[in-house]
Amino acid sequence: MISIIGGGPSGNYTAYLLAKAGKQVEVFEEHRKTGTPVQCTGLTTSMLSGLVPISKEYLVNKITRTKVYSPNGDFVEIPLKDNYVVNREYFDTHLANKAMDKGAEYNFGKRFISCKEGKQITMQFNDNSEKQTDTLIGADGPSSLVARSANLFGKRDFYVGMQARVKLESEKDLIDFYLDEDWFGWIVPEDGKFVRLGICARTDANKHFTNFINKVSSKKDIVEWQSGIIPIYNSRLRTQKDNIYLIGDAATMVKATTHGGIVPHLQAAEELAKAIIENKNYEKLWKKSVGRELWLSLLMRKTLDRFSKKDYNDLIQMVKREKIKQIIGNIDRDKPSKMVPKLLLAEPRFLKYSFKGLLSLF
Ligand SMILES: Cc1cc2nc3c(=O)[nH]c(=O)nc-3n(C[C@H](O)[C@H](O)[C@H](O)COP(=O)(O)OP(=O)(O)OC[C@H]3O[C@@H](n4cnc5c(N)ncnc54)[C@H](O)[C@@H]3O)c2cc1C
Repeated sequence: MISIIGGGPSGNYTAYLLAKAGKQVEVFEEHRKTGTPVQCTGLTTSMLSGLVPISKEYLVNKITRTKVYSPNGDFVEIPLKDNYVVNREYFDTHLANKAMDKGAEYNFGKRFISCKEGKQITMQFNDNSEKQTDTLIGADGPSSLVARSANLFGKRDFYVGMQARVKLESEKDLIDFYLDEDWFGWIVPEDGKFVRLGICARTDANKHFTNFINKVSSKKDIVEWQSGIIPIYNSRLRTQKDNIYLIGDAATMVKATTHGGIVPHLQAAEELAKAIIENKNYEKLWKKSVGRELWLSLLMRKTLDRFSKKDYNDLIQMVKREKIKQIIGNIDRDKPSKMVPKLLLAEPRFLKYSFKGLLSLF
């Protein structure tokens, strides 16, 4: 039996792939249903469509343009390959249903507490029950109890993401990104009438969120508040110990540039399923597939962490060049290994920023 803790995108997609291959799979989810409470904007690059068929069951909107603002209010508009906005409750449920259709068994309202390791792992739950399993997968989010219980939690850092759904007229196919020292913000339209508006920051998230929301909206138009922690990718963490595996936020597999997790998690789920089905080395597989991109995103984030307001203002000026806009617009954010070399070749002034990034490694 393969037991998966967590019915988010990582857990559900892994369950689907393993059950499809004929494995016996059970998922334990602490909530009464999948996908709630929502703590996500649900924005993905076009790469989502290469992983799962895009379905109107969960698709909220398609985005084709972005405006990126610098701290002085200047902006650059860039065309994008299709980006998708998904409803996370419906997306997570869609993936869970696919897994159930292939025979995965779901246990809702069951919280994993800890485990005793061994050839047979004994899992303990909040209702004092115990269950044995052959393989345990921690897909239980940023505070992963599986990682803690198996001594795989290690040293982790987090950002705080704060978001609101707001009644606000906007252009339906355009996302706004706001770059600034210590935080960044976004306005993602659902349909031209409602937007998902949020910020991400390492410290003072509340202050940045309040300032941002006051600048772009009025409090009376807020229909829902959401917030959560976002792990910063740590390439040194172990993600497997014998028959225990970690995936998704539980393994810090989040792009440090935009803090998007959905696409890298689904990619890693494909590698985890392959590792278990074909008895291959999981860490080697996922590091080859997504690890390099996550590491580059981290380097870019460390570079941005050293930016002053003036650096951001200068950056937006540089990005205004048609050639740069084309490169950024044509390559998905999930593939920095393709984007960065092209940007450096097209605009050598970016080299000064990459030098800052290298400095931040020491
Ligand atoms: C404000 C905000 C905005 C974001 N926006 C985006 C975005 O636009 N695009 C994007 O790609 N990413 C975004 N992210 C990141 C994204 O939400 C996460 O990377 C993603 O949800 C992680 O998926 P996961 O399946 O690994 O974990 P989760 O989605 O956290 O799922 C874990 C599941 O495990 C369950 N669980 C936890 N502990 C236990 C336990 N002990 N026992 C049983 N069940 C348990 C939870 O209830 C949950 O259902 C955002 C994050 C935040 C906070």
